[in-house]
Amino acid sequence: MQVASERGRPIGHALFSDESQITLRMVAFGPAVPPPDFIERRIAAAIAYRQSLALDATAYRLVHGEADRLPSLIVDRYGDYLVVQALSQGTDRRLPEITAALAKLARPAGILARNDPRVRLLEGLEQRVDVLYGDVPERLEVREGAVGYRVDPWKGQKTGLFLDQRENREAALRYARGRLLDAFSYHGGFALALAPRCDSVLAVDISADAVARIRENAAANGLRHVEAREMNVFDELRELERTGARFDTIVLDPPAFAKNKAAVPKAMSGYKEINLRALKLLEPGGFLVTCSCSYNVSEEMFLDVVSDAAADAAAEVSLVEKRAQGRDHPILIKVPETHYLKCLILRKLA
Ligand code: SAH
Repeated sequence: MQVASERGRPIGHALFSDESQITLRMVAFGPAVPPPDFIERRIAAAIAYRQSLALDATAYRLVHGEADRLPSLIVDRYGDYLVVQALSQGTDRRLPEITAALAKLARPAGILARNDPRVRLLEGLEQRVDVLYGDVPERLEVREGAVGYRVDPWKGQKTGLFLDQRENREAALRYARGRLLDAFSYHGGFALALAPRCDSVLAVDISADAVARIRENAAANGLRHVEAREMNVFDELRELERTGARFDTIVLDPPAFAKNKAAVPKAMSGYKEINLRALKLLEPGGFLVTCSCSYNVSEEMFLDVVSDAAADAAAEVSLVEKRAQGRDHPILIKVPETHYLKCLILRKLA
């Protein structure tokens, strides 16, 4: 719909929602009406950009919402299949058009709508999972770098895998060695990617499904030195400290602790605790790959909390790399929250 200022001056065009706190999601600025096929054109541009990245993976994000000028639309590619999320009324209404454009441009064997995230409730939309096109099996096989994964697009977290960490896994591989602890490991993204460089691998996740999937993925990749434990990371870190365990490489990739602004103080104490304990478990010379995917916690805040943790752990730490989500999840420079994933690679000096 057209958006105008109070004085009637045209501002642009937007998707409208009558329930959400976000009433308007701009799709174009200025007086010109977007062409009737603007969705198809933008999907084509999003696909062309991903092709230009020459990613070393068969699973990646094809459309990343606002950053592809397609607000609240997510499309992930898993090999021959696509998984779509329509997270606002405007995008939900256009799903038939979106599906037709994706079928034409990406030529998938099937398209699944994982429209079950809770944010849809804020839009007055129901949570549902539907096949929009073709068939979508319960298990898909994809590859990321040298690692093959079995993915459940119907029930896995997000759309099946945490695709936004691919380039951070690649980066971490440059430093990984010795004894690896992968905390909050889900299907073992970091554990399996880094395993070939490490002597032993301990992956920890609270979800029984995730742990079962790590074991299955480790076996399928012939990685016999990967141990997966179903544990709360907060408890496991304490237990490892008590038993005097030590690691040469540690990955911390927790879920978003601050899902809203009110949760920020508690989130900061959570980040502080896990980073403090990890720095104590790390050998001097070892690397800590520590992440936050809370868009309410800025990179500066995250660096501060990690630096406090280092002070409390009496660890001298250098910053090796500051990273973000992969390039298939672009950041909008005018919208700082779109830099939601922060990944710091640190080295413990002493
Ligand atoms: N590192 C993963 C993604 C992690 S997502 C990858 O690269 O693919 C966060 C994971 O943390 C989820 O799998 C969730 O089950 C797990 N989790 C959440 N709270 C936890 C806790 N307190 N202890 C252990 N795991 C937890």
